[in-house]
Amino acid sequence: MDYISTRGSAPAIPCKKAIIKGIAEDDGLYVPSHFPSIGPAPFEAPERNSYPRRAVKILKPFLTDYTGEELSAACRTAYAENFESPQTAPLRILGGDPAVLELWHGPTQAFKDMALQLMPRLLSFALKAEGEKYEVVILVATSGDTGKAALEGFADAEGVRIFVFYPHGGVSEIQRLQMVTQRGKNVGACAVKGNFDDAQTGVKQIFSDSALNRKLAGLHFHLSSANSINWGRLAPQVAYYFTGYDDLAAAGKIRRGDPVLICVPTGNFGNILAAYYAFRCGLPVSRLICASNRNRVLTEFIRTGVYDRRREFFKTESPSMDILISSNLERLLFELSGRKADAVIQWMKELSIQGWYKIDPRGLEELQKLFYGGFADREETLAAIRQAFRKQGYLMDTHTAVGYSVLQKYREETGDGTPALLASTASPFKFNQAVLEALGRDTSGKDEFALLEELSAITGRPVPAKLAELKSLPELHGGVCEKEDMAGALLQFLKIS
Ligand SMILES: *Cc1c(COP(=O)(O)O)cnc(C)c1O
Repeated sequence: MDYISTRGSAPAIPCKKAIIKGIAEDDGLYVPSHFPSIGPAPFEAPERNSYPRRAVKILKPFLTDYTGEELSAACRTAYAENFESPQTAPLRILGGDPAVLELWHGPTQAFKDMALQLMPRLLSFALKAEGEKYEVVILVATSGDTGKAALEGFADAEGVRIFVFYPHGGVSEIQRLQMVTQRGKNVGACAVKGNFDDAQTGVKQIFSDSALNRKLAGLHFHLSSANSINWGRLAPQVAYYFTGYDDLAAAGKIRRGDPVLICVPTGNFGNILAAYYAFRCGLPVSRLICASNRNRVLTEFIRTGVYDRRREFFKTESPSMDILISSNLERLLFELSGRKADAVIQWMKELSIQGWYKIDPRGLEELQKLFYGGFADREETLAAIRQAFRKQGYLMDTHTAVGYSVLQKYREETGDGTPALLASTASPFKFNQAVLEALGRDTSGKDEFALLEELSAITGRPVPAKLAELKSLPELHGGVCEKEDMAGALLQFLKIS
């Protein structure tokens, strides 16, 4: 299977090359040339107790230039003891609605590990195949969770350096500590005076700065991305929608072939795009529910067909979804337009020049047939946490709670009682302050570690070791830069003048 660009002029390339490049030279995103037919029941009985084996099965038809041994080795080591759950991505069936697909049992307590534990291994096989003598420099813009997950995934990976930009004052204290304490001889992180969109725009500018890229190439550095614009990030995410569906069937909640709703709390449109790809490969999904926080640009897009980033940016209690430019939407637009690169180019130009674009009525109809968009504000998010904890004994983080709340709204609005999978994207411990406030606790004046202990006492669950240890780790990466000088910070990290 080859990969083609959503902007139409970059040549089709095999998967390994697409993972090395990250973004196409025409500024488009790589997408599979077609969707393989996988269907509702891909797994044989003996595979069912192994997440790595199931992941290989889903990845194989997409990653055709990898050998079976490469895929097996990559999945086996990515999803091993570094995940604290033996099922890797367990499905929790609550009393009542919904079934919760827990994607946060990896080393950083957020769902990004599902992709970022695997992607470095895929990249390493890809670099071996190239046999080229350069070092890959992974640049990441993060709203909080990707940064740590990428640092953790790529730390001490051979032939790779990684540099992360995060919004100064725009991530939770736990997220900041996770990044600035990261060990590894090839890692760095820098705060940007701006929000996530500024950081993401800055990274994109570095990628398209041809003089800078020539200079780096002369020094045998080759830039790439670990953001979800990289296909190596998205492919691993397709797998868990199939395993979640399969586990729901194994639990007797549906029969294989029955439709389900999938609800995903989203910001950059990455995780829900993976669910859409699963649907295109034959997973029986009747609606995809796109859940946003107060930064509800996607809700309005799905309801009106107008994507308008000219709006106030809110810092919310679900910071990993505080995003106004959802990069991966470009991949969906490509499909909705019938794979017309010209239309995608036009919309993306309008977005960058005038700040908004409108899709045509046919595209909108297609979009609304499958997608439902909704949002939850702070009150609704905290109420969802409280309700699920009191009524179902289940504690969710703020991002998952946005999904939970929007799913409820969807059910009230439509009366649709189809069984639902809710993607749970972070451990409640990671966003402890808002979670405690939801439960009516006063958090003022308490530090992160006191809050972790308090949450542990309420839930009777131990503080995840990786979070508890942050208290005693030295801060190694203290850099802060202006949003105009991200390239300068990168050069400094690479020790280039
Ligand atoms: C990144 C993240 C999201 C949003 O994921 P997208 O791929 O950007 O849609 C949601 N929740 C958490 C906890 C995250 O880290």
